[in-house]
Amino acid sequence: MPSESSLHCQVLVVGAGPAGGDLARRLAFQGVDVILVDRLTDLNRSAFSSAALPIASMQVFGLPAEVVGSRWRQWQLIGPGSATRSWASPQPLGVVLDFGALRRWQADQCLRWGGRVALGLQACCSHQEGERMVTLLRRADGTLLRVSSDWTVDASGQARALLGDPPPAQRPRDGLVRAAGLEWLLQVSLTCWERWADRLSFCLGSDWVPQGYGWIFPMQPGVLKLGVCRLVDPQRQQPPLGRLITELGRRLLPGEVFKVLDRHGGLVRSTIRRREPHQRGRLVGLGDAVSTANLLGGEGIRHALTSSAVLAPLLQEALAASGASTSAQQALQDYAPQLRRALGWRWSLSGRLARRTWLGLHEAKADGRLDQVLRGLDGCRAEDLSALLFGYRFERYGLRAMPYLLGWR
Ligand SMILES: Cc1cc2nc3c(=O)[nH]c(=O)nc-3n(C[C@H](O)[C@H](O)[C@H](O)COP(=O)(O)OP(=O)(O)OC[C@H]3O[C@@H](n4cnc5c(N)ncnc54)[C@H](O)[C@@H]3O)c2cc1C
Repeated sequence: MPSESSLHCQVLVVGAGPAGGDLARRLAFQGVDVILVDRLTDLNRSAFSSAALPIASMQVFGLPAEVVGSRWRQWQLIGPGSATRSWASPQPLGVVLDFGALRRWQADQCLRWGGRVALGLQACCSHQEGERMVTLLRRADGTLLRVSSDWTVDASGQARALLGDPPPAQRPRDGLVRAAGLEWLLQVSLTCWERWADRLSFCLGSDWVPQGYGWIFPMQPGVLKLGVCRLVDPQRQQPPLGRLITELGRRLLPGEVFKVLDRHGGLVRSTIRRREPHQRGRLVGLGDAVSTANLLGGEGIRHALTSSAVLAPLLQEALAASGASTSAQQALQDYAPQLRRALGWRWSLSGRLARRTWLGLHEAKADGRLDQVLRGLDGCRAEDLSALLFGYRFERYGLRAMPYLLGWR
């Protein structure tokens, strides 16, 4: 029988990704007794996210320069085929974060504001006992830690370690949509790096990555991120991601002798309409655990941070009101609707567009349609492209085009 020890706190946050790390630091700042745990023993490891963000997010979410890998001011879209289009701005448009540094910084902030951080702890299960949550965590040596808390937050990402997957959808198209990604961190020559610096480059079209896309993002001088991502299509046999990324490297970096510093990857799993329960009693979901990853660009960091900005004040109110006669469910009843409002009305539109675009992108006909859409962007400014890809402002390109884009025509 593994030995067991126990801890008490007001809020236990399971998962030190962008969502959990941000919530823990916000709550600690407000004087809440918070414990942040993660199964990783080192937050530098498994830095699976390519972590591209628009520049405004740095200020909106109060992120420091130390978490930035590089800045970019240009979009470059390669494909379908060999067509290359680029849009440049004189100003920085965004950043590529060092994902490990972001997680470390958040955990460090939580500690500095008086919170507790415990790594190498895997949450196994949780249940409610009266008005407290009891969560069992396993250490690498098999011993157990029992944490009793007023609230437990499942910020374990797409794994949804405590909340579990949403109940089977009434309509099959409302279920979880999955995307799989693989990324290599490459050491390249400075001459090679300079060709890709300052820009986000995406490869689009079925001859690059069927049902998905590839990318090269710059990090600090001499380091690039090379990645592939695609929607999982159970109806189709899909080529292995390892083969696709090797081929991408061969085509984009011809003749370059690069060193692979790290290989990482992961899954993104989200529902399109985000109607799943966000809470079960005193267990609350945050970030990817409640489908805040957007499937159009596999982008979830901003939205994970948004979910914690919404939840933090509501949790504080709920803690302040503890003892009053409101139930846990009532105390956080505004969470899901407020988060839906914060993500905006274009959210599920972008998800449907993602499903249609990526799943359909496996043949020349779809490449032709994509090429037409990209041609329509030729006269845009780089800032307009950011508004489209980060702000999901499809209506700018004509409401008449939307039914076509969404597959209603
Ligand atoms: C290949 C790839 C590329 C991406 N690129 C981008 C990008 O460019 N821009 C962008 O915005 N987003 C990107 N994303 C998505 C983004 O990384 C996620 O949406 C974001 O990290 C979600 O944050 P989170 O905190 O909700 O979950 P996560 O970041 O997944 O964090 C969850 C944490 O919980 C821990 N955990 C899981 N289970 C347990 C358990 N049982 N016990 C304890 N701890 C546990 C994990 O170790 C992890 O640290 C990418 C994703 C992938 C896979």
